Amino acid sequence: MFDSSTPLLQHGNSKLGRAIHVWSIPAVDTCPGSTAVCRRLCYALRHRFRFDSVKRRLSWNRRQCDRRDFVERMVSEIRRSGVLVLRIHVAGDFYDAEYVRKWSAIVKRSPRVRFYAYTRSWRIAAIAPALRELAAQSAMRLWYSSDDESGVPAHMPPKVRLAHLQTTSAAPPSSADLVFRPHPLRTLPELPVVCDHETTSGRRLGVTCGSCGKCFR
Ligand code: SF4
Repeated sequence: MFDSSTPLLQHGNSKLGRAIHVWSIPAVDTCPGSTAVCRRLCYALRHRFRFDSVKRRLSWNRRQCDRRDFVERMVSEIRRSGVLVLRIHVAGDFYDAEYVRKWSAIVKRSPRVRFYAYTRSWRIAAIAPALRELAAQSAMRLWYSSDDESGVPAHMPPKVRLAHLQTTSAAPPSSADLVFRPHPLRTLPELPVVCDHETTSGRRLGVTCGSCGKCFR
């Protein structure tokens, strides 16, 4: 059903907007820095991600990462499709350093594209140096993800910002540049750092990542 002529990238969902291209791999299996907190709330284990067709697609994506031509194919497709913004991992995470370095090569060869990703793999010592190199690329916007279980990183590399998953009504860490709130907490008073897609006023206005852009500008 999928073969080497199948496009690697897909268009964004209702949150991201169609103008953003996305790349995903299976959640949890590829998330070595995940916490019990984020696994419990992970949207990539729910809704359409439970369909067999979506699972098959993500497994196929994961196999493409191991191919020797992954970087070449991704760079070619980015150029051919006129990609402007690419969200790496709506589902999944940077599962090892070699995979991070493949994305560094892709980003380096695509300087006009804006790439962004959130990762908990900063918690894995063998992956963290490669993430710092990826974050340093001018076309890359990398977010370190945190929650109450992970705590916040002791050191934030240059250019990296912190996205915190708030799971209680307690105030999020003051170092958070962005706060995501699961549904039960979306009625809490709005804060400037809360993702606009997850506030009552933002949803009323129909904010998408494409119209907001905070995460990739
Ligand atoms: S802050 Fe803006 S760009 Fe970032 S996830 Fe929320 S809506 Fe999307």
